[in-house]
Amino acid sequence: RAYNFNAGPAALPLEVLQQAQEQFVNYEQSGMSLMEMSHRGAIYEGVHQEAEALLRELLGIPSGYKVLFVQGGASTQFAMVPMNLLQPGKKASFVATGSWATKAIQEAKLFGETAIAASSEADKYNRIPSLNEIVIPENSAYLHVTSNETIEGTQFAQYPDTGSIPLVADMSSDILCRPLDISQFGLIYAGAQKNLGPSGVTIVIVREDLIATPSMTVPTMLRYSTHAKNDSLYNTPPSFAIYMTNLVLKWVKAQGGAAGVEKANREKADLLYRTIDESGNFYRGFAQKDSRSIMNVTFRLGSEELEKKFVKESEAEGFVGLKGHRSVGGLRASIYNAVPLASVRALTEFMADFQKRNG
Ligand code: PLP
Repeated sequence: RAYNFNAGPAALPLEVLQQAQEQFVNYEQSGMSLMEMSHRGAIYEGVHQEAEALLRELLGIPSGYKVLFVQGGASTQFAMVPMNLLQPGKKASFVATGSWATKAIQEAKLFGETAIAASSEADKYNRIPSLNEIVIPENSAYLHVTSNETIEGTQFAQYPDTGSIPLVADMSSDILCRPLDISQFGLIYAGAQKNLGPSGVTIVIVREDLIATPSMTVPTMLRYSTHAKNDSLYNTPPSFAIYMTNLVLKWVKAQGGAAGVEKANREKADLLYRTIDESGNFYRGFAQKDSRSIMNVTFRLGSEELEKKFVKESEAEGFVGLKGHRSVGGLRASIYNAVPLASVRALTEFMADFQKRNG
């Protein structure tokens, strides 16, 4: 297997891939693939319900919240959130933390007024604004945060207390990387393709009182209420992605749940950041220390030439996906839940060796 450090779609647990392979043609002796079955049949519905129940269990999602499986990726949520939650005379407020927050803000502007509660743009988004920098504008319908900025490699260590104003979070690149207090949030959304499964399904966790009738005209498929009323079976669901997500959730449970994967994630992140910090400025972390992500580790070398060399040589050694996003440059190692510690160890050994040869 390659050492997969892709930012998304990302590594899946090997056990999950093997299980899916075994079950693919003849699902539980049914004589059919699950992919050939009706989404209204008992077998598929069992998988669908199990995935929801596991997500509820692993994230401790209280009653009073709906869990939805929708399509269109997190990018569609950039529009669905304001379409469903923004009322006339109110603002969609944001913490501007980087590339993905910016996309969410741009999209919300299509539907109403937006406001910035705090921003780290002046620091090239190399940090998450501190909690006391965040001032929620008056008349905010909600405050939107990007829990983990996949491109810059920054992550909220704690979330702001927004009182009666719903906190909305894009958790596409860090959902289920650590335990979470769901009651802090009004709505959470995440594309599955980093920590939860393959692309094709987007998870929405939303407080029931926020999914009443939207105040603007919203197409049926883009209303949360449509999916909530129909247990995410209003139309044909992305059954393969939900099936795979269910397998990944079982895997997470076997790792000790959210606390178990957090422990492993911190070990991987600590190892990588230590290698960067102890390199005597040969490797330079992009994110400020207190904003560092345990999912996406971004770093630079002394020159772009050296960075290119690093990417090329790492690829020859079986490492995949280490080139940074074109908007930030440099290097990025995405170490989502399914990336094994052994891959990170191999990477740090490669980094030490590369430094020896080029330092
Ligand atoms: N938000 C974050 C934080 C992301 O990392 C991504 C994708 O990488 C997106 C949103 C967009 O997700 P999608 O491709 O599912 O629309």
